[in-house]
Amino acid sequence: MTLVEMGIPAVRSGRPSLDGRPETPFLVDRFGRTARDLRVSITEKCSLRCTYCMPEEGLPPIPKDELLTVEEIVRLVVLSVRELGIQEVRFTGGEPLLRRDLEQIIAGCHAQVPEVPLAITTNGVGLKHRARALAEAGLNRVNVSLDTVDRLGFARLTRRDRLESVFAGIRAARDAGLAPIKVNAVLMRETLAGAADLLQWCLDEQCELRFIEEMPLDADQEWARSNMVTAAELLDVLGTRFDLIEAGRADPSAPAEKWLVDGGPATVGIIATVTRKFCDTCDRTRLTADGMLRSCLFSDQEYDLRATLRSGASDDEIATLWRGAMWNKWAGHGIDAADFVPPERTMGAIGG
Ligand code: SAM
Ligand code: SF4
Repeated sequence: MTLVEMGIPAVRSGRPSLDGRPETPFLVDRFGRTARDLRVSITEKCSLRCTYCMPEEGLPPIPKDELLTVEEIVRLVVLSVRELGIQEVRFTGGEPLLRRDLEQIIAGCHAQVPEVPLAITTNGVGLKHRARALAEAGLNRVNVSLDTVDRLGFARLTRRDRLESVFAGIRAARDAGLAPIKVNAVLMRETLAGAADLLQWCLDEQCELRFIEEMPLDADQEWARSNMVTAAELLDVLGTRFDLIEAGRADPSAPAEKWLVDGGPATVGIIATVTRKFCDTCDRTRLTADGMLRSCLFSDQEYDLRATLRSGASDDEIATLWRGAMWNKWAGHGIDAADFVPPERTMGAIGG
């Protein structure tokens, strides 16, 4: 199997150029943006097989010695906060709950940088059994991915019959004090008719729902612009049951545009990555489970932070590599352009 077939990008860069970079500790780039939000993928394994993300058989396993360890993850997170100005950290995957040491990762980060909010993005399967321990370890927020409240529809989309486990996970997270819980739903043609039921369920359970336009990051490469459900189409569907009033973004770098539902205060968000792209205000920096640094979901450019870390590099050397990687971040993706080429790593291998 080639690297590309395994979903591992061929573009792996050495030392990024710092030409023209101003003297600042922060993660600035050539387009005036500053990264403050770190996404850390901690595994490629998953308990579901969402069709818009994973292949039926799952992703090829990352060899154990290539996965970042608890100590390595904690070191990088703490460094990113203290040296680079990161203000928010989110653990993702694959499914982050499939790492049994997630509580240790959270506790390790929380002990050293307690001022920084720690969050996970999870499919919620099995969360019921972990929510309390994670909250006690220092977890602040949970985003749960849930695309439909119809059991059959859920089983079709995720290729697993686990809807009840997700419901239980969301309720357990709320009981553990991890509210408000955000629910993320990818817009798919199969589940569009159930979008209003999902919104009603979220209103009843006091969860904040955000729909996300499907991105061309699925392992099966089925994504087609012509078949994609757009934000505009969703608004038409929701508008038949709810009264929606546009309320803008919480802050300029927030990807979700919000709508007040039936006069508020509840809202529904839409993350229109494709039709209303927000690269201009992007504030993300990403670390993959095998320790590669990425400045964008869609760019194949990555830097081998794991090798640098394991070669005995100092915090200063790691920080310099990270700053260089972000300085060379591109302006943004061109998903909506006819000549768009998807990145080699798929969503499950990058971490959404
Ligand atoms: N397993 C966890 C989960 O599902 O929440 C974390 C990893 S998952 C890759 C992170 C987020 O990416 C989820 O909200 C998921 O719905 C979203 N996602 C996956 N594939 C996507 C795609 N092709 N387009 C848009 N969002 C996608
Ligand atoms: Fe797993 Fe999350 Fe991808 Fe679904 S979206 S297959 S739950 S990693």
